[in-house]
Amino acid sequence: MLFALNIPTMPISQYTKRVLSRVLGVNPGDDYDSWKETLEKLIPRDLYTYKLVHASVVTIGKKYCLVDNPLCDKCPLRSICLHANSRK
Ligand code: SF4
Repeated sequence: MLFALNIPTMPISQYTKRVLSRVLGVNPGDDYDSWKETLEKLIPRDLYTYKLVHASVVTIGKKYCLVDNPLCDKCPLRSICLHANSRK
């Protein structure tokens, strides 16, 4: 709906959960609606912002924020990521 219909609603994928739980230190559990509610409170409700956040977390999740061995040293979010900074 976000991209196809231009409706500002935050899609929750495994990338979203993994990347944003590590970056922001939030973890509402496995429930889709809990994640959606939490992120929609944290991120300003704006179509462009939602698209940018969603596309970014997918890219970061595929390229850097791997399940077992995140490549934090190469990740552009390293400076703001709670997970990466807790490992220093
Ligand atoms: S810095 Fe590391 S943990 Fe944080 S988003 Fe990037 S790859 Fe993931």
